[in-house]
Amino acid sequence: NYAREHNLPFVLFDQAMHDRFLWNKHLDELAPKAFDRQEFAVWYQPKYDLATKKLVGAEALVRWQSPELGLLMPGRFIDYFEHIGLAIRLDYYMLGHVARFLEDRLRRQLPVVPISVNQSALHLSEGDYLKRMKETAEAYRLPRGLIDLELTETAFIDFKSKEARANARQIIDELKADGYATSMDDFCTGYSSIAMLQSLPMDTMKIDRSILLAAEKDPRAAAILESVIQLGRSLGMHVLTEGIETPEQEALLRRLGCTYGQGYFYAKPMPQEDFERFLETHLN
Ligand code: C2E
Ligand code: MG
Ligand code: MG
Ligand code: MG
Repeated sequence: NYAREHNLPFVLFDQAMHDRFLWNKHLDELAPKAFDRQEFAVWYQPKYDLATKKLVGAEALVRWQSPELGLLMPGRFIDYFEHIGLAIRLDYYMLGHVARFLEDRLRRQLPVVPISVNQSALHLSEGDYLKRMKETAEAYRLPRGLIDLELTETAFIDFKSKEARANARQIIDELKADGYATSMDDFCTGYSSIAMLQSLPMDTMKIDRSILLAAEKDPRAAAILESVIQLGRSLGMHVLTEGIETPEQEALLRRLGCTYGQGYFYAKPMPQEDFERFLETHLN
């Protein structure tokens, strides 16, 4: 702050950095134990068909119930987990829990919907990603498409050369061969590239909430949103917009041709027990 007030060109160590340092030290200490103590919980947020208002699936979102730190949202720890090499472990933990949840419901002949699981971009550069995903698919033998993997569009940012794009395509193809569906998450936030869409045959385009917010105020943003929705549809993708909070936003998206949506307007992420009750009342 001193540096900022006096217009100095650098800051050695300010309060925010100090707070972050302390927070990260807590995470260093508590995160490994949290895996052993199973402190991570899967919460589920429903996805809807905008026209029929029917439930079509849900997204699994991690919550960390820490006895020491309280209930933590992923924004408090995901980036640091990526930094210290725990994000991959967390994703497999989530995937395993979701697969077990679905397997258990199927065994009890209870209705299910496709569940999507977020995947850190780091997986794409891990040597054994495809092997582990294949093993998981074989272990649970779930119907095709019941688990959907959400990869952010920025995860593919390093796939710039022709060879790299072929490699990314191979990853998507193999995941599909193993029975996974795939979604491109947070579309329209990064350097969305049409070449990337061309080379990656993913099932769903998840349009980020930021462009929806922009589209409400700015006709140019609305024109872009409409074109992106159209682009996804022409490529045969399911198109879903994230973060719908109001009936006006829903109406706008329907007008622009979007088929699916997710957001607080429909339902917030909820613990597994609540989601099971939710499935009972919303799947008939
Ligand atoms: P995301 O995958 O884009 O997930 C959507 C985020 O938007 C979630 O935040 C969700 O709770 C929030 N959201 C849903 N509807 C609305 C709405 O109407 N308005 C607003 N303002 N927000 C809404 P959450 O649960 O805090 O997760 C944040 C991010 O953390 C996720 O963004 C995802 O990138 C990451 N994440 C969550 N779980 C996992 C995981 O298991 N593994 C990995 N690698 N990342 C995860
Ligand atoms: Mg997601
Ligand atoms: Mg998203
Ligand atoms: Mg997003």
